Amino acid sequence: MANPKHERAARAAANSSAAKWRRRAAAAARRPAPPPLPTLGSREHCWCGAPRNHTWPGQDTGTPHPRDTKETS
Ligand SMILES: [Zn+2]
Repeated sequence: MANPKHERAARAAANSSAAKWRRRAAAAARRPAPPPLPTLGSREHCWCGAPRNHTWPGQDTGTPHPRDTKETS
């Protein structure tokens, strides 16, 4: 027979903030790390984050690099 006092203590320990933090940390450790953000203006990437020397609509006709594609929509 399990001791009810011990059961309550075990439940309290499992619900403690330290235990919750440990569970969160363990879950975060299992998750794969997000890919590193491209360094803006680096040798491999344009400042916009796309690969260097990428193209955009109208580039051949002299259209400048689109500055913020999110606000034009
Ligand atoms: Zn760009």
